[in-house]
Amino acid sequence: MIRIQILGSAAGGGLPQWNCACANCVAARTGKITPQTQSSIAISGDSQRWFLINASPDLPRQIESLPRLQPGHQSARNSPIAGVLLTNPDIDHALGLLLLRQQEPPLVVYAADETQAALEWIDSVLAKFSRIEWRKITAEFQSLSGRIGFRTIELPGSVAFQFRDDTSGATALFAPSVGELTDELRDAVHTSDVVLFDGTFWSDDELAAVRPGARSAREMNHLPIRDGSLDFLRQSPARRKIYTHINNTNPILMPGTRERAQVEQAGIEIARDGLEIVL
Ligand SMILES: [Zn+2]
Ligand SMILES: [Zn+2]
Repeated sequence: MIRIQILGSAAGGGLPQWNCACANCVAARTGKITPQTQSSIAISGDSQRWFLINASPDLPRQIESLPRLQPGHQSARNSPIAGVLLTNPDIDHALGLLLLRQQEPPLVVYAADETQAALEWIDSVLAKFSRIEWRKITAEFQSLSGRIGFRTIELPGSVAFQFRDDTSGATALFAPSVGELTDELRDAVHTSDVVLFDGTFWSDDELAAVRPGARSAREMNHLPIRDGSLDFLRQSPARRKIYTHINNTNPILMPGTRERAQVEQAGIEIARDGLEIVL
């Protein structure tokens, strides 16, 4: 059995973002929609040992909101968090590593060589504390924990991870930073029971509406939903398809919008903090 907990469903900055007064951030501040923390999931095959996929700056708060990730009573210092997998070196995916610095054994982190190289600064900060034990990621399935295996799908500037329960054969894909629908990614989506996919932006020019001169979604390595991933995911045979890593500017966050209705009509769910997926 694979159990996935969505710890955070928002893209970098969260919802609301401290310096943003877009419609969604205002709605989140006034309680009209629920605030969401920055993107991270936890995965486990036995509900005892958990791996984080990306470690957001909101990690301490996410741990405190989920008893499963909190220390047990067996000793004064312990944690069910057995390691971290990184999709890329973005600040909103890696800053949480620093917040795990009180860990006593080295922190196990799986990442691509380029991600490890880009995070040398975190490595040197943590050298004074627990330090990081870097592990390689591979395109072939490797064991993560117990009967759970995982493999990497390379993407421009990022990777996606596919997890497999070797007992049941069930698979899940986590792809929060998708710049391009490569053939390999299409295959991985088609062979997954559950797909958690990049829902950062609805449209390519979304950010420029709140911040003139901002880069486009595609320039930021995020395929927009409209004219990007929506039709592809609609046709995917996965049992559950879920948009996550959703930027605070994205109109799908607001109930009643045409954009949200289009996503729902395509059979795609919109992630929220605390959502649990069991497969
Ligand atoms: Zn991100
Ligand atoms: Zn905003």
